Amino acid sequence: MARVRVLLTLFPVAYALSVPTLDNSAQAIFAGKQPADLPHPDPTHSFWTHSPGANPLAGEGSTGELTNEADVCIIGSGITGVSVAYHLANAIQHGTFPVQDEGTNKVRAVILEARDFCSGATGRNGGNLTPYEFSRFRRAEALFGREAALRLYAIEHYSASEMARIARTAGWADTVDLVEGGHMDLLLTEERVKEAKADFDAAVAAGKTLNATWLDRDEMNSTYGTHNWGVRSPGYNVWPLKFVTQLFKQTRKVTPVLDLRLHTRTPVTSVSPLMAASFRRWELATPRGIVQCSYVLHATNGYASHLLPHMAGPGPAGIVPVRGQVLAMRANAPLDALSKISWVNNEGYWFPRPVTDVAEHPLVILGGARDAAGPPFEIDVTDDSIVDVNVGDVLRAFLPTLFPGLYTPGREPEAEWTGIMGYTALDIPFVGPVLNTNDVEEEDSYSYKGQFIAAGYAGHGMPRAFACAEVVVQMIAAELSNREWVAPAWFPRPFLTSVRDRPQ
Ligand SMILES: Cc1cc2nc3c(=O)[nH]c(=O)nc-3n(C[C@H](O)[C@H](O)[C@H](O)COP(=O)(O)OP(=O)(O)OC[C@H]3O[C@@H](n4cnc5c(N)ncnc54)[C@H](O)[C@@H]3O)c2cc1C
Repeated sequence: MARVRVLLTLFPVAYALSVPTLDNSAQAIFAGKQPADLPHPDPTHSFWTHSPGANPLAGEGSTGELTNEADVCIIGSGITGVSVAYHLANAIQHGTFPVQDEGTNKVRAVILEARDFCSGATGRNGGNLTPYEFSRFRRAEALFGREAALRLYAIEHYSASEMARIARTAGWADTVDLVEGGHMDLLLTEERVKEAKADFDAAVAAGKTLNATWLDRDEMNSTYGTHNWGVRSPGYNVWPLKFVTQLFKQTRKVTPVLDLRLHTRTPVTSVSPLMAASFRRWELATPRGIVQCSYVLHATNGYASHLLPHMAGPGPAGIVPVRGQVLAMRANAPLDALSKISWVNNEGYWFPRPVTDVAEHPLVILGGARDAAGPPFEIDVTDDSIVDVNVGDVLRAFLPTLFPGLYTPGREPEAEWTGIMGYTALDIPFVGPVLNTNDVEEEDSYSYKGQFIAAGYAGHGMPRAFACAEVVVQMIAAELSNREWVAPAWFPRPFLTSVRDRPQ
């Protein structure tokens, strides 16, 4: 039982607290850990990916000739991979990403995706785009110091507000169901209220400007139909796959200088160095042939260690695949009664989907409850072709208990699926050049030159991946221009591979 508790603490439900390092018992569980598998070829069908017409790019570039070389090869077509392409296009357009091939005056980029377009975590998640306001602030400050802690929140605010701005400015906010409905942390016990208030106070003491409203049990009951405490802050929800699809389409229009190709259903099985004399640095093997690349960007999240085996396991440089489960459940009340809020508590997270008819009972997207799976709590799992029955039982029973009358006990969901997250020991992503930490020698690090990564967001990637992608593009641009990369004001240094791989 002690081990069970350790694991639960180490790999919490999305948005819940965790501790920074793995202790011996958890290390032992992962001893001899193999790299992640490739994405499962036959995943469960998510509401996002399998609603009719939702994924027009699903099979794009999966047949015909494979692009055989590119300046930048992006592995993975989720929010990270497509954001990399978007920032690349904008950097070219603004003249900060130099064109290497003056003959063609093109920057060639290719996205290689193992399965359908955006069918990883981004196409299977809970749809919350919530920049944390103060949640877990004490932990962040204790781990990373005040300045970096403030930046952990700043990057989320930057990411989410940029994503919303882009969708609105380009006129596709409604197409992607972007809703600024706010975020509610639902607190079931006085102890949780105390903890949340302590985080709030710590954030205030650190000088953070906060936008949060506290509600007591009576206010929550009369307004939302649940007799618990709550704290409300800004937040969005979105159809993530549609967002990524629109972002991809928009990227293609930014500049004719970017020649962007997409090859879905094309898993990359290895990345090997090319001969020193070759113009390109890396060779990507796929079942359809090889692609030669100058730069490689690993946007593979939970699967990163398949191609980077030294990132397997729970160590300081590791990304561990963890399976999460989500379902779409019809509510028993109209949207007015439910609110447009995205909710979270320490069991799960949920939000009602937008409706066209006010009398309609919305579908509610609901995920979490991973501890119900029992040991090892879906940790080190890359199989998203099945759901866990026990997790499903808890998710089905969850909302009728919290909101009596607003949900029907025993009702079956209209869709249920799983997806793979990428957890790291510190609960924050790796961003920057790929380095080999197991063997901290300069030559070894150098051996990955030209490979970059932005991955490992745990259950909270939507408000972070877009900005992390921007940073890796800036880094590549700086290298190509012989400039020093300067971190944006909102970027937390602990995300850097160079800081994490060589802890001081
Ligand atoms: C069930 C679940 C619920 C979640 N809920 C939320 C939420 O509500 N809010 C939130 O902020 N975050 C949530 N997350 C986390 C969030 O979805 C992720 O952090 C984010 O989507 C990661 O994006 P990504 O592009 O880095 O990775 P992914 O979207 O996983 O994309 C990686 C892509 O790489 C591809 N790939 C992997 N290996 C290879 C290879 N060798 N060759 C080619 N392609 C490869 C995969 O097929 C995949 O499409 C959730 C995640 C899950 C699984």
